[in-house]
Amino acid sequence: MQKTTPNNLDILRHSTSHVMAAAVLEMFPEAKFAIGPSIENGFYYDFDLPRTLIPEDLEILEEKMRDIIKANHPFERAEISFADALADFKKANQPYKVELIKDLEKSQETNKPINQLTIYKSGHFVDLCSGPHLDSTGEIPADAFKLTKISGAYWRGDEKNKMLQRIYGVAFESKNDLKEYLKMLEEAEKRDHRKLGKELDLFCFSDLVGPGLPLFTPKGTTLIDTLKKEVESICRKYGFEKVSAPSLAKPELFEISGHAKKFGDELFHVTSGKKHEFVLKPVQCPHQTQIYASKTRSYRDLPIRYMESDKQYRAEKTGEVGGLSRVYAITVEDGHSFCRVDQVKDEIKNMVNIIKDLYSSIGLWDNHWVSLSVRDYAHPEKYIGETSDWDTCEKMLQEISDEMNLEAKKCEGEAALYGPKLDFMFKDAIGKEIQIPTVQVDFATPKRFGLEYINEKGEKVPPVMVHRAILGSYERFLVLLIEHFAGAFPLWLSPVQVAILPVSEKFEKYAKDVETQFIASGIRAELHNQSESLGKRIREAEKQKIPYMLVVGEKEEADNSVAVRSRGDKNQEVIAVEKFIEKILGEIKEKK
Ligand SMILES: [Zn+2]
Ligand SMILES: [Zn+2]
Repeated sequence: MQKTTPNNLDILRHSTSHVMAAAVLEMFPEAKFAIGPSIENGFYYDFDLPRTLIPEDLEILEEKMRDIIKANHPFERAEISFADALADFKKANQPYKVELIKDLEKSQETNKPINQLTIYKSGHFVDLCSGPHLDSTGEIPADAFKLTKISGAYWRGDEKNKMLQRIYGVAFESKNDLKEYLKMLEEAEKRDHRKLGKELDLFCFSDLVGPGLPLFTPKGTTLIDTLKKEVESICRKYGFEKVSAPSLAKPELFEISGHAKKFGDELFHVTSGKKHEFVLKPVQCPHQTQIYASKTRSYRDLPIRYMESDKQYRAEKTGEVGGLSRVYAITVEDGHSFCRVDQVKDEIKNMVNIIKDLYSSIGLWDNHWVSLSVRDYAHPEKYIGETSDWDTCEKMLQEISDEMNLEAKKCEGEAALYGPKLDFMFKDAIGKEIQIPTVQVDFATPKRFGLEYINEKGEKVPPVMVHRAILGSYERFLVLLIEHFAGAFPLWLSPVQVAILPVSEKFEKYAKDVETQFIASGIRAELHNQSESLGKRIREAEKQKIPYMLVVGEKEEADNSVAVRSRGDKNQEVIAVEKFIEKILGEIKEKK
């Protein structure tokens, strides 16, 4: 069988949506049809139906679809005048199609005129559609599609309009592709960070605090702090020093930086009864420019590298409920290098190496690709800075990609406000692509703030600013980590590294002693002495995905040992406490 290109898959998926609509027409002859495009992995169609659909309807519809596929109706294309189309769809009592035809007629007056509309007929179903479709319904593999979901959708996405019913489906070119996709979906659901975040007690939300404002529990905070320490220790090796700035600043700071214009109504304004007017910082860079500006700098002082992990605020559309992907307050690991032009290349290489170090330690580096994100050349007004600087930067990033074997792919229109960048995309355990780290060159911001240093000739010149985010925001990074590891974090990252379980109340004192020894050695230990059976506590610790469970009873107390169970392993091994502490400290250090 010939391999279908993505475009052919779109045609297959869209054609399947016609077949679904035909099946709906059979089930509800009075159904009114809205639109039915192809989407990622499948398709949907919106209907106005005499009753609310129930999940059982999907199976009936799937059966009817298989019959329509078997009947092998050709997709017959016909051209028709606006007047005829209007008359036909009015007669068929299809008000949504009538509205679409009227709109097309209107846009036809302003745009290039089309006198004819196309309609496609397959079996009894006729649709207003520009195509293309497969030649006939029989070309759709009958065992490679599935109707997946019913949901409400406003006509034209406008909540003032009528709520229609949307049926989603997925379609592939083979039964096996469908099977693999459904398996991946099931796995993704199991790994969903919202579900696991709750089960593992990592973060929560409160109506009183507000949506889009996650609260991190002790375990979630431990996870973030452990990551922070790791990132900071890697960055220190490359000469970064930590700074700290307040969460707000005068609006002027962000007007000069260009962020006020860029973020517009996404900025949070803070006022007080004492006539204060501040803006919550949407990014960290402008504050850091002012630390640089606090002293006279000489060419010999550069590069100056600052790093900071702090909250920043943007009123983004949140959409997602109970998750960390889009929130108002994000903790951003941000860093900048203020350097001379002749140092830029080395600074960027430094930052790429930091990214490589961190992502290697998490085991993600092997599965990545790099985007060389350049300007949208057709729309220079979207950016700040001088064209010659942009040209220099883009050329330099290309050279770095070549010299470091990054094989960066050029992506037009993906640059930042002030300069081109290297973006790193990673694939998690189930193949979901996530873009997190970024390195950006910026000639414009230092000039806007009048930053300078004294060069070898004694002249005042602006430095270059290189921005880097190693893990973007901690919130988004947590999503990646939770879903990638399905909550079973590596030992060094686990919020609880060992759980200590006394076999009965009698051994609680010994268990407590053991816990104290672990904590004193810097290991995150937790005593599980709830009044439940040992079996139940073991199952609970397993659900919490704690790397090591230490069971203690009479024998262990007698020889100062613990019975160790590793995560995912039912076997138990008795080891002396001291020896096990040594072993586990070694594993944490090696980031096993
Ligand atoms: Zn169509
Ligand atoms: Zn920055």
